[in-house]
Amino acid sequence: MILEKALNLFFPIKCGVCGKIGLPICKECEEKIKPFEINLVEKDDILFNYMSEKKISYKDNKANLRVQKIFIYKYQDIIRNLLINYKFMDSSYLSKSFAYLIKNNKKIYSILKSYDIIIPVPLHKKRMNERGYNQTELIARKLEIPVETNCLVKTKNIKPQSTKTAKERQIDIKNIFAIQNVDKIKNKKLLLLDDIYTTGSTANECIKTLSKATNKIGFIALAKDVYN
Ligand SMILES: [Zn+2]
Repeated sequence: MILEKALNLFFPIKCGVCGKIGLPICKECEEKIKPFEINLVEKDDILFNYMSEKKISYKDNKANLRVQKIFIYKYQDIIRNLLINYKFMDSSYLSKSFAYLIKNNKKIYSILKSYDIIIPVPLHKKRMNERGYNQTELIARKLEIPVETNCLVKTKNIKPQSTKTAKERQIDIKNIFAIQNVDKIKNKKLLLLDDIYTTGSTANECIKTLSKATNKIGFIALAKDVYN
């Protein structure tokens, strides 16, 4: 706490949108962000064909998993700029702004707190070394809910997804995640966290992998790409 106060003296907290000193998102900008809220909660039936996947060994797995999917914002304008800044401009301080927005959103935050553990969508080791941090993990760590980053791992480093079609992405991403230290998450209520939801192929592949450990899984994305 003392260290945090000292750091705030030298690096004062400022609004991630307009730069005003005081809060991670100032009141004015918070109002501007509100119209982009979708607060959408969907129940998605995710069908996995477990019959063809021999690796699955936990007997309480069901072939049909109902997953609560939550999207906080539309991936547009102010939110889109903030996320692009955060992901590609080396602006790790913006994790504070996103965590602040989530915790200030009572509806969303109460859903989050109903989960045992947050699992940020992992980066491949190589990517993690290049960037120095996992942007989703940084936000998760500020939400005051246990975070686990040692259980879901990305085993293959694939090229950026943005230029590919939905079908190509699905093929690319198949079986690139794996579970380790399963005891830490077995039968726990897990919340997978991602920044941007586009086609859902990454989220679904992560959920499929996590379902080897539990059938209580939810998903939350900061923003949903509304054109997909
Ligand atoms: Zn502001």
